[in-house]
Amino acid sequence: MVTRTTIGVLALQGGVREHLVALDLCGVSAVPVKTVEQLDLIQGLILPGGESTTIIKLASQYELVEPIKERIRSGFPVFGSCAGMILLADHIEAGTADQETFGGLDAVVQRNAFGRQTESFETPLRLDNDMAPFPGVFIRAPLVMSVGSGVNVISTIEGGAYAGRVVGIEQENLMATAFHPELTPDLRVHHRFVKMVNESQW
Ligand code: GLN
Repeated sequence: MVTRTTIGVLALQGGVREHLVALDLCGVSAVPVKTVEQLDLIQGLILPGGESTTIIKLASQYELVEPIKERIRSGFPVFGSCAGMILLADHIEAGTADQETFGGLDAVVQRNAFGRQTESFETPLRLDNDMAPFPGVFIRAPLVMSVGSGVNVISTIEGGAYAGRVVGIEQENLMATAFHPELTPDLRVHHRFVKMVNESQW
């Protein structure tokens, strides 16, 4: 019997449903995750956008912080979008006092990096070496300020004031975007994560 890949979406707060829909369209089984037991039933996890301070507090209440950290260290595939990117970063700027993250990504990520005037906007992105731009949807988004040598840049902003800024990164079993691919019909980023999950030993 062939079992279908199952990917979870951390369902404590934020844009859970849109990720579930995108995963479904990629042909994998998608489930909301709230407990450690549910973590054992999935081969990869998405940390959605929302409010990183709230998500980490709830994760702590649900006793999910250590189990997720452990899995990240052991090679479990995780993709974080927006607040999810913040939650995967080893270092954050403009966090609240002692704001914790799951960590794992050797990067410095600045919260709310685009300022008040541009709280939410859409701009074309470069994704790898694809000719077709990716529609970048940003909502009070973070920016990647610097990355360690083991981190791969997968996406940058194409033009305008923020041209060339890094908004998508990957490091071994981890992937993160400052933008929200789940709010567009373009499934390239989700397909990329599904491929990472399918190729992992998890
Ligand atoms: N500004 C939010 C945070 O700091 C992220 C916004 C989002 O996920 N759309 O968590």
